[in-house]
Amino acid sequence: MPELSRRTSELGTENAFVVLGEVNALIAEGKEVLSFCIGQPDFVTPDNIRNAAIKSIQDGKTGYTPSPGIPELRAAVAKELGDLRGLELSADDVVVAAGAKPFNGYTIQTVTDYGVGHEVIFPNPGFPIYESQIKSNGAVPVPLYLREDRAFAFDPAELEEKITENTRLLILNTPHNPTGGILTKKDLEEIAAILRKHPQVWVYADEIYSRLVYDGAFASIACEEGMLERTIIADGVSKTWAMTGWRIGYAVNKTLAPHLTRWVTNTESCAGHPNQYAALEAISGPQDDPNAMKKVFHERRDLIVGLLNQVPGMKCLSPGGAFYVWPNVTETCKLTGIADSEELRKRLLHEAGVAVLADIHFGPRVPNEGQHIRLSYAASNEDIERGCAAVKAFVEANLK
Ligand code: PMP
Repeated sequence: MPELSRRTSELGTENAFVVLGEVNALIAEGKEVLSFCIGQPDFVTPDNIRNAAIKSIQDGKTGYTPSPGIPELRAAVAKELGDLRGLELSADDVVVAAGAKPFNGYTIQTVTDYGVGHEVIFPNPGFPIYESQIKSNGAVPVPLYLREDRAFAFDPAELEEKITENTRLLILNTPHNPTGGILTKKDLEEIAAILRKHPQVWVYADEIYSRLVYDGAFASIACEEGMLERTIIADGVSKTWAMTGWRIGYAVNKTLAPHLTRWVTNTESCAGHPNQYAALEAISGPQDDPNAMKKVFHERRDLIVGLLNQVPGMKCLSPGGAFYVWPNVTETCKLTGIADSEELRKRLLHEAGVAVLADIHFGPRVPNEGQHIRLSYAASNEDIERGCAAVKAFVEANLK
């Protein structure tokens, strides 16, 4: 058999999709499973947005668009991202693609070279695509540990220790998947002070959950002095407007925009034409629906945190944003004699009918930080109540 490339053998995956396969297989066998494993809003895209897409199709907007996106959408994105962050952004610096996800790979490909020791620092635990793209592009992954006693932010002193002359890129993700943690303005000030000493480092600011912050205001690294020029702000419509399947995301950076555009030309050509009109309506149309969805997520966060903290041994912080909780299950495992978070995940799926993800799906466990699982609370109140009750009953029945 002819061989495959190193690039392909290094390519990881998103285990949420693997677990989803297991869940669907159980459902196909007729089992009832309450799923908390997928990171997408459980709402249908609001009507005004769907209607805008239908109209664009009826108007014949069905062709290629310029690779960086239709000008109206680029302008709307510049305004939307600029308004939230208090920045003046230009439409020329915005590039649109099929989701925020592609920009992770495009950015790494743009600022690092294969096999020459370029280092990329990324959060651990973290969105698994970061490490996958770093490795498959031949760069060196440098995990930056998130700390439970800092509400799942990292210690800036640890960042400083990890920066070397080979560091090309720092990936930040706030609000954070999988922990729901946020970087505060104070954290970002400290991070920016460190980065000012290392002008060779680009920053990829994955801010896809920026509109889903429940405690305090969202803060972006791009607002810190000297950071905008070297920060690639990545965002998209998937989470805020319940549009995961429409595949529209965007990135902003003056210097990199032409290069990111060439990546789009070389891969996707452009994002879907009608979908760009849908995104335009999402961003510039009425905001009642996304505001209502955010309120629902906020209430569900409080509900799920309260319920999980009633499970023997479980310790769940109240995360500041996104729609994930990251309870510490170290003690729960000890009390039940379950080996670790992954065995707990499997037993919850098969014996309690509750699908969650384990910490190992988001990178190796952080030394001395215990065991965790992730639940997405993009699920109804009723499912959250039933799911948490099933977890509690399972743990109580297995106490040693
Ligand atoms: N970044 C993070 C941290 C995410 O959690 C996700 C979605 N799970 C994405 C990026 C990808 O979003 P999109 O649908 O825009 O590609």
